[in-house]
Amino acid sequence: MEIRSVFTEPNGRVSVVCPNCGLTITNEALRRASPAKPIQIKCTCNRIFKAAFEKRKYYRKQVELYGSFIATSPIRDENDIVVTDLSLTGLAFETVGKHMLRINDVGTVRFTLNDVQRSIIIRNVILKSVRDNLVGAAFCDGRQEKALAFYLRP
Ligand SMILES: [Zn+2]
Repeated sequence: MEIRSVFTEPNGRVSVVCPNCGLTITNEALRRASPAKPIQIKCTCNRIFKAAFEKRKYYRKQVELYGSFIATSPIRDENDIVVTDLSLTGLAFETVGKHMLRINDVGTVRFTLNDVQRSIIIRNVILKSVRDNLVGAAFCDGRQEKALAFYLRP
């Protein structure tokens, strides 16, 4: 089955165009449509197809943004961080001091974008990698973040 590309619109919504009738379909489930796990979509024209972000459509940006990460599970651990890499699906950060973070820890990351509005981003994340002070994390709250989508547009 052909896989159609999911797009992030400037307003933060995610959508895909039906290959049969050309209708733009907006569906929050598309947010989780990775190349490895496409989402099946049924259009109002009855065409069924699969949709996923293309790998190169995962916009990521090298950044230097200051903030904090508070791990809440399994233990509380509060850290000042510098976000170094940002995408719609997650981020990488360096902790400023010593930490007790481990893979699969869950918590809340908070940082300020250097956009015009100085948007404050507060998201729940799960840690995917921890190497010394370098931490990789994935957003796990399924929220749509207009400011972030706008910030990361190509
Ligand atoms: Zn259609």
